[in-house]
Amino acid sequence: MIPFIDLQAQQRIIKPQLEAAIARVLDHGRYIMGPEVTELEKALCEFAGAKHCVTVSNGTDALVAAYMALGVGPGDAVITTPFTFYATVEAIQIVGATPVFADVDPNTFNICPNEIEKAIQKVYANNTLKLKGICTVDLFGLCADYHSINQLAAKHGLFVLQDAAQAFGASQGGQRAPTHGTIGTTSFFPAKPLGCYGDGGAVFTDDDDLANLVRSIRVHGKGSDKYDNVRVGQNCRLDTLQAAILLEKLKVYESELEARQNVADHYSRQLRVINENITNSITIPNSPQGEVAAWAQYTIQLNNRDEVSDSLKKFGIPTLVYYRTPSHLLGACSSLGYRQGDFPIAEELSQKVLSLPFHPYLTPNVSSEIVNQLESQLSRS
Ligand SMILES: *Cc1c(COP(=O)(O)O)cnc(C)c1O
Repeated sequence: MIPFIDLQAQQRIIKPQLEAAIARVLDHGRYIMGPEVTELEKALCEFAGAKHCVTVSNGTDALVAAYMALGVGPGDAVITTPFTFYATVEAIQIVGATPVFADVDPNTFNICPNEIEKAIQKVYANNTLKLKGICTVDLFGLCADYHSINQLAAKHGLFVLQDAAQAFGASQGGQRAPTHGTIGTTSFFPAKPLGCYGDGGAVFTDDDDLANLVRSIRVHGKGSDKYDNVRVGQNCRLDTLQAAILLEKLKVYESELEARQNVADHYSRQLRVINENITNSITIPNSPQGEVAAWAQYTIQLNNRDEVSDSLKKFGIPTLVYYRTPSHLLGACSSLGYRQGDFPIAEELSQKVLSLPFHPYLTPNVSSEIVNQLESQLSRS
């Protein structure tokens, strides 16, 4: 059985360093806000090219803390994508604000600037909500179109919150995710490109005031200390143990990003070849010139997706569907009043997308085996 993600392959390479890092934390015993947390924040700032990094307990809390720092609450609207993991939308709802969806670009899976402009006009016309910002998602590790989105945001006086849970370190225009917007977040959930061994996340910004607010919010809205509570916050710190693990994983992350690109290139080259031999062709994921994607997923599109994924499973090849239901059709969003047909691109993608096994240590032999099996399923169907 081929694993969908092989976290053990990475662990085998850095196990002695991980064990030593964990042992150091057990020795000093500062499990909360220990020295590794500050050290990690410094290293993450350097890697991403950000002025401030504030680590937090997970990627969802990172989004919530960012909204709290931005002062988003009831009566406010935030424009976001319906084709994402629900946490993106949930964070807006948690702070009491209203998510307003804008459909995605079928080539990139990311929020479409023209659709954002339409959503902005819709909020203005409705005149019941105060539009505060845009939350982009760099889906599957590919940066959204920040050139256009930042222009739109500036024109309308909106913030851009970059949800780079799947894209830490991806680059566009010489800048790394999540530093393309006003404030950015990421997740260190184990299966994300840079994952820890539990939950973790971080907020990035160049804005001193926003960074200080997030630092306060993650410790119960602390002022001079944690018993001087000057605002409503949360308890959302990153554990020292996870910081120690991430420090070791970050050391190999640059080379893993390169390896991810190579694995993706290998898949794409082979899929282009089989597309010449089959009638029902596969849509290969976009890989724009001059950009580096973090390839959280390698996601193709197929017309007979479920049939193909079932038969691949019989041959020991696991695949996953991200996302079977676009957020506007989820039960948790029913009060927003959207209907089937509102976001046709996101809805069509949710019927066609299929993510193939992917991790930086996937060998060309194994990816060839996967592609060959895919080809024989497709020529049969
Ligand atoms: C994983 C993910 C999150 C949430 O991160 P957690 O660490 O699991 O809370 C948010 N947004 C997107 C796009 C994600 O993929």
